[in-house]
Amino acid sequence: MPYARIGYGMKILVLNAGSSSLKYALYETSPEAAASDSDQLLGEGLIERVISMADAIKTAFTVLSKALGGEAVAGVGHRVVHGGTYPASMIIDAAVESTIEALCELAPLHNPHSLEAYRAARAHLPHAVHVAVFDTAFHQTIPRHAYAYAMANEYVADKKIRRYGFHGISHRSVSLRFAKIQRKSPADLRLVICHLGNGSSICAVDRGRSIDTSMGFTPLEGLVMGTRSGDVDASALLHLILHAGADPAALLHALNNKSGLLAISGVSNDMRDVLTAADSGNEHAKAAVDAFCYRAKKFIGAYSAAMNGADALVFTAGIGEHSAPIRAGICEGLDRLGIVVDPALNQAKSTTARCIGHSPISVWVVPTEEQLLIARDTLAAVTAISRHN
Ligand code: ADP
Repeated sequence: MPYARIGYGMKILVLNAGSSSLKYALYETSPEAAASDSDQLLGEGLIERVISMADAIKTAFTVLSKALGGEAVAGVGHRVVHGGTYPASMIIDAAVESTIEALCELAPLHNPHSLEAYRAARAHLPHAVHVAVFDTAFHQTIPRHAYAYAMANEYVADKKIRRYGFHGISHRSVSLRFAKIQRKSPADLRLVICHLGNGSSICAVDRGRSIDTSMGFTPLEGLVMGTRSGDVDASALLHLILHAGADPAALLHALNNKSGLLAISGVSNDMRDVLTAADSGNEHAKAAVDAFCYRAKKFIGAYSAAMNGADALVFTAGIGEHSAPIRAGICEGLDRLGIVVDPALNQAKSTTARCIGHSPISVWVVPTEEQLLIARDTLAAVTAISRHN
């Protein structure tokens, strides 16, 4: 009975170390279970306000000990925000570890935490296969004309200063899931995916490959976000530094932590609060919602043009999955582009993937499954190793 073990394959642990939190999930899966979407989630959790990642990992292991039931964990998948130019997930060996360490310079809020989580997890599970799943990897297919900043060579010659793109795990997860729902190959689809959460980005996925995305050298570029400004003319920042006495480090902090919805609304970085304030007549909150929607709309237009049209516009993440008014606001006035949201479908409460507009470019909500994608990449790496041995 070779298939008796479907869904009862290997135990795969997923660790997603953020700037101040640790999300973890334990799956039992196998290649067959992954192919038939029957991977089993055995346990998951979130630890917030993490001071020591090693302590957080210890807590996660304690919580999961029952679900683990003394069985070995075959693989551990680590979400790593910055993977430089790695085009795919990598088994972590000494070389990969030192690359992730070198990239801490480009992602100082994230990569050090991933490394700390990795080292702690490796100490707990020295025999498991540890895999790094990068947020940047999916965007390595972006062509040079889209990733290069048109800057003087002396500043970009070392090739570090370029657009990398982020949220790749989510954009890839949603594009694969959407293709599965449509029973189509990703190679037959052109998608504009809007990942709208605390951090937000839009991605043009042309026949399965990311060809452009709104975040750039760091996750600051692009859309208006909870506390991040998104696009700002670089000259404005240099003007503040050179002529208005702004401290560069304080300015960078403000752009990342005190800008976006929070700054425009003066109310909150949380879209729910901003919408409530806008509904009760707060003009600043309305302006924040308008700025958020307008910026997203511009990128949808840009990416539709980049792909010579699109088959679907897909919303995901906290705001994308849950906020009907924001989805409606973004799509308002896009009918001549072929995008129309159906108000009843848009407002229907649901947590599953669904179509909310049957226009020429159909409009969808597809929940992101980042942890599952990390688990499956890890499973694939473990399986490849065992085939090799
Ligand atoms: P992260 O980017 O940290 O992973 P999420 O994808 O969970 O975050 O998105 C979080 C954001 O989603 C919150 O800041 C909140 O503004 C927004 N959000 C969640 N539910 C709703 C809702 N029902 N309406 C509007 N916004 C929502």
